[in-house]
Amino acid sequence: MGYISKQVSSLPPYLFSVFDQKKEQLQKKGIDIIDLGIGSPDMPAPGFVIQRLKEEMGKPENHRYSPYGGCREFKQAVAAFYRRHYGVHLDPDTEVLTLIGSKEGIAHLIAAVIDPGDGVLVPNPGYPVYQSAVHLAYGKSVSLPLDEMNGYVPLFSALSEADLERTKLMLLNYPGNPTGATIEKKTFAEAISFARKHHLSVAHDGAYGLVTYDGYRAPSILQVSGAKDVAVEFGSLSKSFNMAGWRVGYVVGNKQLIRALSIVKSNMDTSQFLGIQKAAATALNSDLSTVAANNLVYLNRMESMLSALHAMGIDAGRPRGTFFIWASVPEGYTSQSFAEELLDEADVIVTPGSAFGTRGEGYIRLSLSVPQERLDEAIVRMKKRKTRRTPE
Ligand SMILES: *Cc1c(COP(=O)(O)O)cnc(C)c1O
Repeated sequence: MGYISKQVSSLPPYLFSVFDQKKEQLQKKGIDIIDLGIGSPDMPAPGFVIQRLKEEMGKPENHRYSPYGGCREFKQAVAAFYRRHYGVHLDPDTEVLTLIGSKEGIAHLIAAVIDPGDGVLVPNPGYPVYQSAVHLAYGKSVSLPLDEMNGYVPLFSALSEADLERTKLMLLNYPGNPTGATIEKKTFAEAISFARKHHLSVAHDGAYGLVTYDGYRAPSILQVSGAKDVAVEFGSLSKSFNMAGWRVGYVVGNKQLIRALSIVKSNMDTSQFLGIQKAAATALNSDLSTVAANNLVYLNRMESMLSALHAMGIDAGRPRGTFFIWASVPEGYTSQSFAEELLDEADVIVTPGSAFGTRGEGYIRLSLSVPQERLDEAIVRMKKRKTRRTPE
């Protein structure tokens, strides 16, 4: 291990890669595993987006390096989307930056903002990448507690002076992975006031901003007046347009934060392939009808999984965003032991809530990004599994 940095060797193995290993081992034995663990959409990218990419592929001018900050057409499309969809005005030159997926941007923003030992408020439970990125930037993750009882809004009152002493950045994520929690604009306004009071910057991860149900429309944090003074928001085409493997997203908002991130990035990458950025612009400029159609598919899957879980006596709320169901584990189990039982007795992979932080204990996360037939099969297997719970 002498060749590997302390930061890297002390990083817990990336959660999903551990599951992938176990899944691969079982599949090698010829076992048919249904993976409700991973958050990659199963449906294809829209046809008109693929068509645009094909056209752009044939143009040699697209084969050159992209400008560092991204191509103008894409940044203008992001700005136009924000104006249309949220009523937020953005300057495409200084307040928008192309990312090679939002995950990259989140990790590099943390590196751009903190010094060694500085704190970052990280939602707990939350997307595991936040904590790893803070660790790799020599920072300290400070748990921002989220609680089912309060609808998973940030519990600022639970933070002590010590928690905030050297803390520079707050991360938020709504609609939230793993909980599916959604919020109203007033919660963002509270977060912005809290950040101002404690001299924090705010980064809102809006990866699921368009993946919503039942008429709910997710707000942008930039709709809060004055938010641009302290906040940026990340967006992604991965989930809403089924473009996870294309690697394209954006960050918008505060100029200084975006400038700092672009300095880090310009020393590490040279943005995304121009053809992909132009195809992504076409997606954002669309009427979003493909997004609505996708959401309807997820909604149908959600209905069947929720009623199956309820029939099994498993408690799970109905999310208004994301394609995840966040379910309580039955009494007598931990997150891990219930996930293991589902894998061993039903050949179904779910993610133990504890993988998302200490406050995820007692829950599992089920992803709806598998076709209906597979979901139905998973339900059949889960219902007839041998349960190991000891009777009370
Ligand atoms: C999937 C996901 C991302 C990453 O999206 P990319 O744009 O594909 O990098 C970011 N945040 C959350 C919470 C996610 O679930």
